[in-house]
Amino acid sequence: MTEKQKTINQSVSIEGNGLHTGKTGTLTFHPAQADHGIKFRRVDLVNAPVVPADIDYVVSTARGTTLGHDGAFIYTIEHVLSALTGLGIDNVLIDLDVEEIPIMDGSARPFLEALKKAGTVELDADKQFVVITQTIIHEVPSKKIKIMIEPAEEYTVDVVIDYETQVLGEQRASLHHIGEFEREIAPCRTFVFLHELEFLLQNNLIKGGDLSNAIVFINRQVSQEELDRLAGVFNKPTVKVKDNGILNNLNLHFDNEPARHKLLDVIGDLTLLGKPIKGKITACRPGHQTNTEFTKIIRNTLKV
Ligand SMILES: [Zn+2]
Repeated sequence: MTEKQKTINQSVSIEGNGLHTGKTGTLTFHPAQADHGIKFRRVDLVNAPVVPADIDYVVSTARGTTLGHDGAFIYTIEHVLSALTGLGIDNVLIDLDVEEIPIMDGSARPFLEALKKAGTVELDADKQFVVITQTIIHEVPSKKIKIMIEPAEEYTVDVVIDYETQVLGEQRASLHHIGEFEREIAPCRTFVFLHELEFLLQNNLIKGGDLSNAIVFINRQVSQEELDRLAGVFNKPTVKVKDNGILNNLNLHFDNEPARHKLLDVIGDLTLLGKPIKGKITACRPGHQTNTEFTKIIRNTLKV
């Protein structure tokens, strides 16, 4: 039996701050017709330029995946795209009145919940899957990065991360079927190591973050003075390091929440292929650069 393309039943909005710009914005999902695909529209700019969620429009993968076209940019697109793929939504127009997608709680869940509230509907057109017919591998040995896709009936993803730090260690996460996404993957939040956080703060590259939307790994000794400074930055009276090496700003939803979040990002970035995938992905130390390079390789190899 063929599966039909999906869109949403009605428009729905979500508001929040961008992680890197700190700017408040409103994102509105609108229904779209068959074969429209996923597109962003910058409604705050003259002539409201449209930027397709397509690998050909990726302009940066530093700290998040950014799309750009005709001077219009959309920053941090990966979590919202992940939510759309998780729900099997093929066609939607996403209005945004600011350059960065709100970070919300650092996961895909707020987008997924908004989309579920809007409801999904089937369109009178078959889904056009990218069916993987051969094994495709992308490796960056110097960074111990490897991502591959093999033929499979379902879209499945296995992720391994290891940053050679004791506090995080090796972690694995798996998605056996896209139906697991909502419960197992969507709630998993982004994470950052203390030294990265300090770099971002010092260089003014993180503004919308507070201690509720990132898991912070403390991978070295920190003094009370540093903790007090961090507490000040995040507008909390105090913060401390828990036994598992993370800051006490939040409780993990899953022990392997960081690996699950990397899986969430893989699904989000691979959405830029423009069509749903039938294939088995295995990714070691994936990141936005690897994911988008790999997406291009799949497109070029299979001519999709
Ligand atoms: Zn992410």
